[in-house]
Amino acid sequence: MRLTRPFSFLLSCVLFVVCLTAAQAQKITRNDFGKTPDGESVELFTLTNAMGMEVKITNYGGIVVSLTAPDRNRRFADVVLGFNDLESYLKGHPYFGSIIGRYGNRIAKGRFSLNGVEHKLAVNNGPNHLHGGIKGFDKVVWAARPTTTKAGASLSLRYVSKDGEEGYPGNLTTRVVYTLTNRNELRIDYFASTDKDTVVNLTNHSYFNLAGEGNGDILNHLLTLNSNYFLPTDATSIPVAHLRDNVRGTPFDFLMPKSIGERINQDNQQIKFGSGYDHTWIVNGRMGVLRQAASVYEPTTGRVMEVWTTEPGVQFYTGNFLDGTLTGKSGKTYPRRSGFCLETQHYPDSPNKPKFPTTTLRKGETYKSTTIYRFSARK
Ligand code: BGC
Repeated sequence: MRLTRPFSFLLSCVLFVVCLTAAQAQKITRNDFGKTPDGESVELFTLTNAMGMEVKITNYGGIVVSLTAPDRNRRFADVVLGFNDLESYLKGHPYFGSIIGRYGNRIAKGRFSLNGVEHKLAVNNGPNHLHGGIKGFDKVVWAARPTTTKAGASLSLRYVSKDGEEGYPGNLTTRVVYTLTNRNELRIDYFASTDKDTVVNLTNHSYFNLAGEGNGDILNHLLTLNSNYFLPTDATSIPVAHLRDNVRGTPFDFLMPKSIGERINQDNQQIKFGSGYDHTWIVNGRMGVLRQAASVYEPTTGRVMEVWTTEPGVQFYTGNFLDGTLTGKSGKTYPRRSGFCLETQHYPDSPNKPKFPTTTLRKGETYKSTTIYRFSARK
């Protein structure tokens, strides 16, 4: 169809105004968020997009403190678990919203060998190493640079982990860029480089409740996972020697939408080992290519969250160890299974499993991965 000249001029003007309004609405502000016990200043950044969605992120641990998403009636609610103040995060919590590194998930017995040298890490989860150790990337202050780009408001966080920090080799320069796009997506781009061969596996540990944080458990959420296989584990959550199990016919089958609660209490050895779901699913399709890993629908509000990633796996964790002792930002407690995590990542214990996709980052290489959490609503 050919447009007449005045009409096409009018259309350009309308588009220009729409873009201008979007550009004006999207913004990022920064506020003081207190000090760490070492006296380091911490800030809280508020990213807003043109659709009215808002994400608050602190440079302490790169924690996503809050994230509002619209329901089917365009009512916004905060859909991530967390606290209002830095003190509560400093007191300790199960990685709410945090960036996890240098190695997300477990390394068996806190040991791995690289280039013939054995490296010893903290054993902080039963007999294993978990989420980067005692003071992982979730407990450090990141250098923050807010910007607004065409894609949306962006927060770039940088942290240099020293050679030997938490037992890992090599000075690792890490950059994590959070972007709140005008398509209601929280996009996370991870980059890292090292001056000595090392291992890297970065993720974000947000706990979601699409009914709104503090609003009951997540068992009625309908989950779809784009995975034919998951990684069975031993009793300490380390993947067993053989590579993968087919999900079909098991409680791990989320190929079609299924409520999280439907089979979570079933008599199944893997469920027992995780006290619920706490496993890695292998995302179908090619790793390195951005593809959909998951979709979650909350029926009472209509909120939908899709997860897209370049990573080979996703750890689906159903908040099995939340126990109601923590009180969240709206004054409500967080009982067992009141939030779920979809942590996009490489497989657990990869440094000790040569058949798994490698997590070794060589000197001179750049680590790069992208994950997108996309929000919408439907009837
Ligand atoms: C782990 C869980 C752990 C949780 C909080 C998840 O990534 O797989 O086992 O309890 O993080 O620490």
